[in-house]
Amino acid sequence: MRALIVLIVIGWVVWVLFKRAKPKSPPNSSVENLLECVHCKTYISSKEAILSQGRVFCSQHCLEKGQSCSS
Ligand SMILES: [Zn+2]
Repeated sequence: MRALIVLIVIGWVVWVLFKRAKPKSPPNSSVENLLECVHCKTYISSKEAILSQGRVFCSQHCLEKGQSCSS
C-alpha cells in the first residue's frame, strides 16, 4: 500500500514538472489587437509595432521610409 502511494506521489511530481516544462502560449494571443503600418499597410501586432509620433510602423525599415517621404 505504501509503495502505491509513493508511486502516485512520484507520478504527480513528474506530471507537474512536465506540465511546467511545456511552453504554453499566452491566453490572450488571439485577441491581440492589430495595428496597420502607415507605410506598407501591413497589419502587425501591437507588441511588435513601432510607434513614432502617433503613427504605427511594422519595422525599422518602414519607420525610416515613412518618416522620410511623408514629411
Ligand atoms: Zn510597414
